[in-house]
Parts: sequence; structure tokens; C-alpha cells
Amino acid sequence: MKFRFPIVIIDEDFRSENTSGLGIRALANALEQEGMEVVGVTSYGDLSQFAQQQSRASAFILSIDDEEFGGGSDEETATALKSLRAFVEEIRHKNADIPIYLYGETRTSRHIPNDVLRELHGFIHMFEDTPEFVARHIIREAKSYLDGLSPPFFRALVHYAQDGSYSWHCPGHSGGVAFLKSPIGQMFHQFFGENMLRADVCNAVEELGQLLDHTGPVAASERNAARIFNADHCYFVTNGTSTSNKMVWHSTVGPGDIVVVDRNCHKSILHSIIMTGAIPVFLMPTRNHLGIIGPIPLEEFKMENIMKKIEANPFAREAKNKKPRILTITQSTYDGVVYNVETLKSMLDGEIDTLHFDEAWLPHATFHEFYRNMHAIGKERPRAKESMIFSTQSTHKLLAGLSQASQILVSESEKVKLDQDAFNEAYLMHTSTSPQYAIIASCDVAAAMMEPPGGTALVEESILEALDFRRAMKKVDQEWGQDWWFQVWGPSEFGENGIGSREDWMIRAEDDWHGFGNVAPGFNMLDPIKATIVTPGLALDGQFGESGIPASIVTKYLAEHGVIVEKAGLYSFFIMFTIGITKGRWNTLLTALQQFKDDYDKNQPMWRILPEFAQANPRYERIGLRDLCQNIHDFYKLYDVARLTTEMYLSDMQPAMKPSDAFAKMAHREIERVPIDELEGRVTSILLTPYPPGIPLLIPGERFNKTIVDYLKFARDFNERFPGFETDVHGLVTREVDGKRGYFVDCVK
Ligand SMILES: *Cc1c(COP(=O)(O)O)cnc(C)c1O
Repeated sequence: MKFRFPIVIIDEDFRSENTSGLGIRALANALEQEGMEVVGVTSYGDLSQFAQQQSRASAFILSIDDEEFGGGSDEETATALKSLRAFVEEIRHKNADIPIYLYGETRTSRHIPNDVLRELHGFIHMFEDTPEFVARHIIREAKSYLDGLSPPFFRALVHYAQDGSYSWHCPGHSGGVAFLKSPIGQMFHQFFGENMLRADVCNAVEELGQLLDHTGPVAASERNAARIFNADHCYFVTNGTSTSNKMVWHSTVGPGDIVVVDRNCHKSILHSIIMTGAIPVFLMPTRNHLGIIGPIPLEEFKMENIMKKIEANPFAREAKNKKPRILTITQSTYDGVVYNVETLKSMLDGEIDTLHFDEAWLPHATFHEFYRNMHAIGKERPRAKESMIFSTQSTHKLLAGLSQASQILVSESEKVKLDQDAFNEAYLMHTSTSPQYAIIASCDVAAAMMEPPGGTALVEESILEALDFRRAMKKVDQEWGQDWWFQVWGPSEFGENGIGSREDWMIRAEDDWHGFGNVAPGFNMLDPIKATIVTPGLALDGQFGESGIPASIVTKYLAEHGVIVEKAGLYSFFIMFTIGITKGRWNTLLTALQQFKDDYDKNQPMWRILPEFAQANPRYERIGLRDLCQNIHDFYKLYDVARLTTEMYLSDMQPAMKPSDAFAKMAHREIERVPIDELEGRVTSILLTPYPPGIPLLIPGERFNKTIVDYLKFARDFNERFPGFETDVHGLVTREVDGKRGYFVDCVK
């Protein structure tokens, strides 16, 4: 495989007809003769822009001949030196290894101070050696640099895919050849390209190692990632953190074990509860009326309070072993709330066997000081004395993994080592015996990309972009938002430039922006790379304004303008600044929001501004944007839906059965479909999850209370009134009965 990584030459004289120009072009020719690509430019241009080239180049040659250094004049020498130093620093900020050479006359080299020289691979003295000799030396270094880039599995996979050996093993498309036999297959082949298909191999290929047994290059990659992420062990998972969570659970939880779980966890944790037959007691997060989930208060984590919950739970109090087997919390909620893990360790180490942090949204944190102690496993963090610590991370969500790329990180305690064989039994239970090798390679590469200093620089860039976006939103507000503008949820002061101080992002009891009440000092922080954008109409205390703009309309508008956002609540939606987000991306969002404001203020008809939506839902064609917002707003207000949602999530859920027993009723069809008007007091056999927010509300075995039933009635009435804006509730079965849509939930008989 020939990768394209040119050698970049920066020389004022690259195109000049003087001796210096002739000299550098002779070197460029010699490099090309040896088969290297060369890019020659005449100035650094925009320094930071140019330093981005470090990701595409195999070496830099920076010319510093006497002319550029002012022929000796002190002032000009100082200026030239300054830009040289700045450039080298900018490169080294991101890339510790790429070869950098200086090229010039001997006289000049004396001007270069040691701190710059230290970062260089050499000083090429013009006219001392032949260009060919110098070229070969540079190429050797450049190649050795490129060669060192590939992490173990990716390296082996590339090698295998190029090797061109004929295989008889699956997959049946045989390196893509099968596709070439049919027209639509040809299209598929052309779209994805030969390499993707050649690299789609099966686990019979010995030289690549085995994911399921963690051998060979796969194992070497996992070790490499463990080192980069500062963990004792790392396991790559090719079916998302949904699966990573189940693996962690199945490796440590058995039927009848007591488990302590964040009530607002991802559904895969609830699936884990059902699958393992555990008895859950829940920790209840705060929430504000915007529907934003806050932290679980510190008090809830106190062991005496956990024990009280266990005693109050009819199943848990019967358990033989009262010591909780695992604690799982969502470390970084959707909206970006994180916990101080050292505080949690100091409270729970040894009290609960395994502390599991679902860090699907937080794989970046370990690479930047900004998040010190606010993530599960990191550099220079003390081991727990007794409890094992797990972190499960979706590399595909914020880092550069392909969809479903995920990993499990383990930090052992002083007392307990991970039994890797036992752990792997659970790993095998949830892994396909035909894992997708491109996903494994992306786990490998996503980890290698985060190796400091490059990874730290990437995280810093994300934070910086996120803050600049927030600053830009504030600026629009000040200049343009007299009547209204969108607000970004979070502290109002966070410095005028740069990444500022993480102290600004700590959630403090005395601050009024969060609405989470009495948060313990130093316990929680908001990750600024998650930006929740709040639309007008609903105050933090749940009061509806006179007018309002429901988020679902804004997100539809954005979608028709090519901006897809991650998740929408009633009056908020959220975007995140992954390491792939660029200035262009967030500026487009900002512009689209300004267009929305303009169209809203003019009450533009729907057919004009949301043509696709209006075509699919003709009933809205002639309604003005502002009027439609108002209609939905009035409906929300009528049902007081912000309070209803909050109360429903905070309401006391009564377990009537163990989750696994209730789910088994479904498997045995000992269930019936109950209309929502008759639900109160019934026991659900399924997981009920309203979207937004996509957080499970009722778990198999729990009883419906009045608040939840009221919410479902609201959802029914809303959906009838505003088709096209349906509130989606997973677990709610809709059926046509006598021409009317009925809403049912499967309950235990
Ligand atoms: C997305 C998510 C998961 C599941 O991750 P996938 O990689 O999509 O399977 C688990 N936990 C949380 C908190 C998530 O947000």
C-alpha cells in the first residue's frame, strides 16, 4: 500500500533563480527521483493552518539560509527566528515525531538556539553533501516515521489486504469479487472501494490474531490502547457500548445479586439487569424542568442511604447477600454532567465490588487536564483499594471509531486482579464469532490517534471550538437578540478566549443556570463540548411563557437545512463537539438558527420554509412558522407537560416483580395488551421509553402510577392533534381499533 505523505519544503526561494533556490530545488528533485512526493511552499502563511499539514506530511524541511536570516542583521534574525520557533512549536504541540530538518548555510546554524535544535532531526548544510545523499537520509527518516505510525492491528490488516492471497474462507464475497458479478454489486464495490472489501476478512486468518481470544495483533492493539488510555486492560468491542455494558455485567453479576444503578441510565444497563436476574435499587438524579438530567446528589451515594434503599425494596431486603455487586452510573449524561470519580471512590471503595462508569460519551476525558478526576480511569490516579473499576466507552461517539466501535477499560484494585479468563467467558457470550475487522481497526486507530501530545491537542481543539461556538451564540444574543434568541445552557462566564478555566464549568449550588439545587462542592462538572441549546418558551422552573418555540420544530427546520442534531427535548436540543467538528460546521448551524429566527419573526408559511415536511403533512402547508410554534406551545402549556415529565421521572416507582421475572412473562406470553386508560396499577412486562429524552421510564416488573398514565394520555392526545410531530414512546403499542388509534402497553397478566 502506498500512502500519500509528501515531504513539505518551506523556502522563500523555492521558485527563485538564486543559489538558494537552485539548491533547494536540487534537493526536491533528488527526493522525487527516489520516489517521494514533494510539496514546496514559499512561506509559513497562517501558522496554525499550516501546522495542520503535520497530519499529511512525512517530513518538513525548513529553509533558513542567510538571506531569510537578514544576512546577519540582529533585528531580522530575531524575527526569522521567532517565526521558525513558533512553527516548530505548533508542529510539536500535535506531533512529537514527524521529522523536521533545517536547511541552510553553516553560518546560520549558529543562530539557532538549543530549545529549537532539540526538536529537529538534523541540519542540512547546503552544498556540503550531494543532494542525492541528503535526500536518501531524509527519506530514510521519513519512512521510519511513517512506519512507526501504524498501530499493531491496522498494520497487520493493511499488510494482509495487500498481500493478495486467494482465500477459501468466508466472507463469501471473497475480498469483494462476488460483487463484481452483478450490476448492483458493481455499484456497491465502486462505492465502498476495493480496500474496504479486501480488508473484510474472517477470523480464520491466523496472522491477524483473534478478537475473541485476544491473541496476536488484536491483543497487541488492545494492550496499546490500554496503555494510551491509562488502563490495566482494554478490550475492543465491535457491537457498541450497549454490548460492552452487558459484558461487564455478565462478568460480575448473577441472579439475585443486588445492584445499584443510575435511574437514568442507558437501556443497555436495564437489559443487563433483566438478563442477569439482578435486583436493582436505583439512585435518582435531579432534573430541571427543561428536561435536562442533572447529577445524582452526593447524599444518594452514601452507603447508609444505599442500605436504606435496599431495606425499602421488597426484593432486595430478602436477598441473602446485601453487599451490592456493582454500581453503574452514566458518566457524562447526554447533556454533559460528569462526577468526581475520586469522591465516589472515597465513599464506595470496598463497599461495592465493582464500580462501573458508563462513559459512552467520555472517551476523550483522560487526555486533558480539563477533566482531571472527572472520569473513571486516568494517569496518576490512585488505585482503589478493593473495588474493581470498569469504564465502557463508545469510541464511535466522540472519537474516530466506526459506528459500533467501543471499548472496555479496567483498572484493578490493590487487592483484586481481573481474572481475565473468567471475564472473557462473559465477553464471548456477547460477541459475534465473525467480528467486523474494519471496526477493530478503527478501535486500534482511534486509540493511536489519541496518543499525547496529538490526542491532547485534539481534545483541546474540541473544547476550544465548543467555547467559541458558545461565545458566538452570546454575541448574536447581544447584538441581535433584543426580542429573543437561542441560549446555550451552561454558565454565562467562561473567559473571553482560549479554553479558560475548568472551574467555570463546575456545577455550584449557588449558581442559577442549572436548576439542580444543592449540588455538593467539587462533585460535578458540565463538559462544555456538549452544548444544549435552549429555545424560548419554558423557564428553568417549569413556567411556560406567553409564546414559545418547541424544539421539535427547530430541529425539523435544521434538518431541512442540512443540519442534523443529536437529540431534542421539549424546549432544548443538543449538539456535541466531537474531534471531527470544524468551525465551518458550527458556523453553518449558527447561520441556520439565524435564518430560523428570521423566518419565525416573519411568520413565513410552512410550504415555503419547510417544503418537504409540508408536502408530507399537507395540513400544515399554509400555517405560518410562528403560528405553528404557538399552537404546539399552547398545547404543551395546557397539559403542563414540563412539570408532568419531571414529576413522572421523579415519581416513586414501585417494583412488583423482579425485572427478569416480569420479562420472562413476556417470553411465555403470560401478558395482555392493556389500553392506556386502564393502566394504573398494572405491572409492565416491557421497557417503556419516551423520546425525548430516550431514557427508560418504567422497567419490567414496575407498576404504572397515575403520573405516568397521565403522560401517556398526553402523548396520545398530542399525536392525534399534531401528526408529523409525534411523541415517540418505545414500548407503547399503537393499533387501529374501529378506525381510531388505540394505545396499549403489554402488562403482566
Ligand atoms: C450510546 C450510549 C450507550 C450505547 O452505546 P452504543 O455504542 O450506541 O451501543 C451506552 N450508554 C450510554 C450512556 C450511551 O449514551
